[in-house]
Amino acid sequence: MDNIITIRHVNKTFGGKKALDGINLDINNCEMTALLGPSGSGKSTLLRHLSGLVVSDNNPQSSISVLGKVVQSKGKPSKEVRTCRAQAGYIFQQFNLVNRLSVLTNVLVGALSSTAKWRTLTGTFTAEQRSRALKALERVGMEQYAMQRVSTLSGGQQQRVAIARALMQEAKIIFADEPIASLDPESSRIVMELLEDINKQEGIPVIVTLHQVDHALKYCSQIVALRDGKVFYQGASEGLCERKLAELYGAKPQPAP
Ligand code: ADP
Ligand code: MG
Repeated sequence: MDNIITIRHVNKTFGGKKALDGINLDINNCEMTALLGPSGSGKSTLLRHLSGLVVSDNNPQSSISVLGKVVQSKGKPSKEVRTCRAQAGYIFQQFNLVNRLSVLTNVLVGALSSTAKWRTLTGTFTAEQRSRALKALERVGMEQYAMQRVSTLSGGQQQRVAIARALMQEAKIIFADEPIASLDPESSRIVMELLEDINKQEGIPVIVTLHQVDHALKYCSQIVALRDGKVFYQGASEGLCERKLAELYGAKPQPAP
């Protein structure tokens, strides 16, 4: 089987500051993976590179592949980048749903190719698409809300709709960027358990950025930790000991009693 993710020599500079600094990374199994690290360590930037939303600094040695497809090479988007985007479901902290539209329509958007998305949004969908969208909503426990406007839902419910949209898209991999950062503890639990369940039952790899270490350790069997744009740790979550965690988050020396 192809590597899930292969990253070689990726740098990204914003205004002279390195957001990613020589990233090399291999993820070769489908386990749920947390991207951890302090704020500003480069988690979101890395995730955006994987979905081709951001292109790395020009470098003849750099490359990024996801599920065996080259997303970019030498700091340029590949010809396959559209296919790569279509195979990835993206879950955002702010859900990125269309508030004034129904839950069902928001899920149906997942069936459209990215270029056609907004043009076709007001058009009609086939009965088969509607039935698949309802199934996806059922999968996340939201089928009874299908005809409601998204604006009437809680944050946790909206995130479940966003997950249903990724399922509708038949995503081969899910990238979730701080999916629970705006949610209360109970909704966070539901969303993390849902991602974990989809990962285990459907075998879809899930890469999730989290700033809460406890959630990462609880739900993700492997961790990639970033510090200052570099890979600080990669491996099993059990291997991330207290001392390493303290170092990751730049523990301040304890004041003298
Ligand atoms: P994290 O998700 O770990 O909090 P980010 O990937 O968002 O970190 O950011 C890493 C660094 O890159 C930060 O210093 C941030 O300010 C910078 N950065 C990210 N995106 C941009 C951008 N579009 N323009 C300028 N600087 C950016
Ligand atoms: Mg971020």
